[in-house]
Order: sequence, then C-alpha cells, then structure tokens
Amino acid sequence: NHGIGSWTARRARKTPHRLAVVHQGSRYTYAQLHDRTTRLAHHLRSLGVRRGDRVAFLGPNHPAFLETLFAAGRLGAVFVPLNIRLAEAELRHCLTDSGTSLLVHSPPFGAFAAASGVGRLVAVDDTYDKALAQAPGSPLDENVTLDDLAVIMYTSGTTGRAKGAVLSHGNLTWNSINTLVDGDFASDEVTLLSAPMFHTAALNMTCLPTFLKGGTLILEESFSPSRTLDLVEEHGVTVMFGVPTMFQQLAAEERFAAADLSSVRKMMCGGAPVPQALIRTYEKRGLRFLQGYGMTEASPGVCLLDAENALAKAGSAGVPHFFNDVRIADPAGHDAERGERGELLVEGPTIMSGYWGLPDATAAAFTDGWFRTGDVAIADEDGYVTIVDRVKDMIISGGENIYPAEVEKALYEHPSVADCAVIGVPDEKWGEVGRAVVVLAPGAEAGADGILAFLDGRLARYKIPKSVVFADALPRSGAGKLLKPRIRETYGTTDS
Ligand code: ATP
Ligand code: MG
Repeated sequence: NHGIGSWTARRARKTPHRLAVVHQGSRYTYAQLHDRTTRLAHHLRSLGVRRGDRVAFLGPNHPAFLETLFAAGRLGAVFVPLNIRLAEAELRHCLTDSGTSLLVHSPPFGAFAAASGVGRLVAVDDTYDKALAQAPGSPLDENVTLDDLAVIMYTSGTTGRAKGAVLSHGNLTWNSINTLVDGDFASDEVTLLSAPMFHTAALNMTCLPTFLKGGTLILEESFSPSRTLDLVEEHGVTVMFGVPTMFQQLAAEERFAAADLSSVRKMMCGGAPVPQALIRTYEKRGLRFLQGYGMTEASPGVCLLDAENALAKAGSAGVPHFFNDVRIADPAGHDAERGERGELLVEGPTIMSGYWGLPDATAAAFTDGWFRTGDVAIADEDGYVTIVDRVKDMIISGGENIYPAEVEKALYEHPSVADCAVIGVPDEKWGEVGRAVVVLAPGAEAGADGILAFLDGRLARYKIPKSVVFADALPRSGAGKLLKPRIRETYGTTDS
C-alpha cells in the first residue's frame, strides 16, 4: 500500500512515540493512531466496506475524521468528507451523488443520518471506542497505488451545484509534498487546526503535510480567538491555519498584544488575499503570512505567496507550487500577452482526474490537459499571479470586460455600504450592464445616486454600474463567498 492510508504505519515505524493528535482530553501517539486506524479498518470491513466503496464523514474536527480517512485508505475505499454547514438537501445530494454506502457521523447528526438512506452508520460516541477495542489489531492492507481513488471532495457550490472532485492518493501526496517544500515544514511542527478539516485547504494544506513530516496536530471543533491564544501558549504552536477573518478576530483580542506568540513560525491563510493592514498588524508581532490560492479540483494548492513577499506583492496569489505549472490563456486557449488578463490554467500531479459522474463537466474543465480554474488572472513581470475574478461572473458591456470583484472593492470603501455584489443585467444598447446590489450599514441612509457618484473618479466610466438595488442581506456560502447565481436570480430581472 503506497496510498495515504499507509501513512500511519510508516509514521508508526519511524516515530512511534511522537504525539500525533491532541483533541480535548485525548492524546494519541503515532503508534496509537496507527493501532486505532487498523482496528477501524477491520471494523469497517466487518460492516461490508470493500475496495472502491464510498465512506463519508459528517462531523466537526475530531480524531475519528482522520481515522476514517486513513482506514478507508487502508481498504482502498474512497473517503467523502462532508461540510456540516450544508443544508440537509445539499448533504443528501453529496451522499446520493457519491453513492456513499457507509456514513461515520458525530452524535448531533444521528437523526439526519438515520433518515439519509445510507445503509450503514457509525456514530462517533462511546460505541465507536468500544468497536475499536473489540476489533482485531492485526495488519490489514489492500494493495493501493498512487493512481487509486482516495477521496471525493465536493466543491463549495459557489457558482452552481457542488461537484465531486475525484482525487487520487497521488494527487493528495503530491499536494502535501508541494506544501512541505514551499511552506518549509519541519518535522517538529505543532499545528493548530480550528478551521474545519472537511474543507480541502485545512485538510490538505496543513493537516496531511504535518502528518507526513511527523508533527503534532491540535484539533479544535470550532474557532475561538481567546482559546486560540491559550492553545498557542500551552502547546507551543508553530503552524496556524485560517481564513483572513479568523486572523482578524485574533488580532482584535484584548490579550493579543501581550500574548506569547514566539513559538509561531507559520501562519497559513487561504481562500482570499490577506488585507495589507492585517499583514502589517502581524508583522509588528514578528509574524508573517503564507498565502495560498487554489481549488478543490487541484487538491487544492495552485499558487503560494511566500512570507518574504507578503507585503511587496500584497494582493497577489504568489507563484505556482513547486510541482505545478500555470499559464494565462485568452478565450481561444492561446497564451495571453504578457500583462494581459485571461483564464488561469493549471497543470501538475495534484490535479483531479475529473468530476464524479459528470463526464461533460469534466471535458469542459480541461483544455489540452490543462485544468481551467475558472478564475481570471494577471501575472506581473516576476511571474506573480493576481486573481481578478471568476470567468463566470465577468460582465461584458459594449465589448469591455468588467470584473465585478474590482467594482465591489470600490463600493466597500463607501462608509454606508455594509455588503455588496455586482451582477450583469441585460441591456439593449450595451448587451449587458452592471448592477450593484447593496446592503446598507445599520442606520445608514445612502441613496442610489450618492453611491454611483461615489464611484465616479474611482473607477473608469464603463465599470460604474448603471443601477443600484438595495437588499437586507446577500446570500453567502459557508465559506463566506457570494452566491452569485442566487443573487442574479433574485436581483437580475427586477426593474430598477
Ligand atoms: P464551485 O466550484 O462549486 O463553484 P468554489 O469554486 O468556490 O465553488 P472551492 O474549490 O472551494 O469552490 O474554491 C476555489 C475558488 O476560490 C477558486 O477558484 C477562487 O475563485 C477562490 N480562491 C481561492 N483562493 C483564493 C485566493 N487566495 N484569492 C482569491 N480567490 C481565491
Ligand atoms: Mg470552483
């Protein structure tokens, strides 16, 4: 077995006594984690799990998540991590779409699991530990290669229905290697994970690389800024991972300035560029961000902005990971001119083989072997890539491309704007024009004209939306991304 399921055995051989996981009162060394994983693999097999079967996990961060991932890998089964923030209908879609035959879930999801139609259930409660204690601890491994399927990870569903990205053991292994090389991971890292590990970034950019090197993982079920500071001091945390808002909340803690953060070597951040002010706040404490750009389909790391260039190249997504290559293409698929915008394409050993059960979407996602990220990007003279917006969200008005993200950024600077989205609406003269959907800050009383006048001089004329509609709130995904299809549906047709 050369798949990720073999990692616990390999670690137990090299560093049996090193602490692998800490979760609330539980602590497991690599030898113990390996033993638990072996027993779980036996238990899952006794419940009928065979090579190729899909095994899903639904719950917050917990050692059982990792044990299920590795045990499935031992059996050659496919792991399906589920996002606990999804609506029940969305969760059912992931379960039926993937054809999950066994679901491991935390106790609060018992009722959902029982009604889900999945044939076999394993609850992570007292019965879980009992089952492990009763299962044999004898060696158990299928012959798994790097080309075999490891996980089906669902995309966030920001631009449409969530799709299952099919990732192999090789894809995940190479992503961990990319992360170790570019993130400079050491073997004594103590990684704090309070972001949910059912998200690809937390799992693949922090958790698995830490394990591959034999570091220690501190698992938290949810994020609390004050507790984070306690944990950093208590465990001597060296790696922290989060999205920009988490680091923002941490810096806002009263105790932040006095907290002992001297053990921290790396703060990994992803999903969106880190605001410059936040970079400066942490630099004052001697801390630097590593910023990642990627997507579920790429396991997920595509580019990384190194800590040394965090300020010099602020706003950029960095350069491609060591074993991945990127290029920027025009609509015909040819290389865009230097300094021109175009779709970012990526190629490398971390790219999925396709979407589960969606041959058409898979074919559309690749061009000459390059994966189409669906993101518009621009590269500078040093090759640093900046993400402009999504191709799907781009507005074409009178032959000019408008990138809503740029307009939204300008709108955010208006003191009365609490949230906003810019969408394209049909227009007889221009084909399409921009419309701003604005949520006003509490008590603010700005009108459409005032808001548009604010943009005058800040943006080129053609980029300024032609209309403004007001909303009480905007639909956002669990990861905080604007759900543009829903916004277009609601506000794209009403007259204004
Ligand atoms: P779906 O594919 O289902 O519509 P999604 O694309 O939001 O959802 P993910 O794979 O979770 O699903 O997110 C990847 C996307 O997130 C990227 O394509 C990009 O648009 C955005 N993204 C990720 N990291 C960054 C970053 N550092 N800067 C800007 N955008 C980012
Ligand atoms: Mg996507």
